[in-house]
Amino acid sequence: MTSKAFAAALVLCGLSAAACGNTAGGATAGSARNEEPASRTATQATPAVLATGSSPTAGKSLAAKPLAKPLSGKVVVVDPGHNGLNYKHPSKINKQVNVLTQWKACDTTGTATNSGYSEAAFTWDVSQRLVKILRDRGATVKLTRHDNSGVGPCITERAAIGNKAKADAAISVHADGASASGHGFHVIMPKKINGPVDPVVDASRKLGLAVRASIKSVAGMPYSTYVGSKALSFRDDLGGLNLSTVPKIFVECGNMRNAGDAAKFQDPAFRQKMALSLADGMQNYLK
Ligand code: ZN
Repeated sequence: MTSKAFAAALVLCGLSAAACGNTAGGATAGSARNEEPASRTATQATPAVLATGSSPTAGKSLAAKPLAKPLSGKVVVVDPGHNGLNYKHPSKINKQVNVLTQWKACDTTGTATNSGYSEAAFTWDVSQRLVKILRDRGATVKLTRHDNSGVGPCITERAAIGNKAKADAAISVHADGASASGHGFHVIMPKKINGPVDPVVDASRKLGLAVRASIKSVAGMPYSTYVGSKALSFRDDLGGLNLSTVPKIFVECGNMRNAGDAAKFQDPAFRQKMALSLADGMQNYLK
């Protein structure tokens, strides 16, 4: 490689921090709670500059312009499960929709902790935090709903939003309402159904594996004790997955009916860590 080409390679590397292995995970995760994501991004950018700045020429060209953000050019769809007023509009959310393998309700109310913290409020809060982190990292982010005081949209529409956006990755945020003794998170990925999701089943699995790893390491959440295998579950009954033509997963962040998980969910610092872990997992998949 000529020195010119070498310098060019260094610049390319610097422009895409993620491609240089400077992922957002692990290193800063422990201290990340409640930190303003923009300042964290700036802190993380420093080692990339230092590491790639071994040539004085490259160092200068890197210093001359700001580093591209790791998710620049990526489109991500965030789907906060349910909606805050679904429970007030049963006729709307119980309307049956075709999810290809069956007909089912357009949406559901979701679950809640025993003290009444609703899944819709939890998914909305985590999603808001996730969106901020992803946007700070340069992603174009679309949400499937814009507040927690409405109804729906239907699961078919939630899938359509990701498809229309031609998302590089989509994530549906949920928390489970299982028997109180079970705890921990799991990731749900699509199965082949001889339908539109088939071409993205493999990619969705990769996305799921990346997000599983980051939830465990960054959020510190253990694998589910009551569903799936090592926190992985594959399903063909979810409209949000069956109808997706982009890589998509559902994350069940834990069990709202379990006292330990519920205490975590009600802690804003935990919700920030969960959001950070989802962002890191998506970024690791996308890089
Ligand atoms: Zn849910």
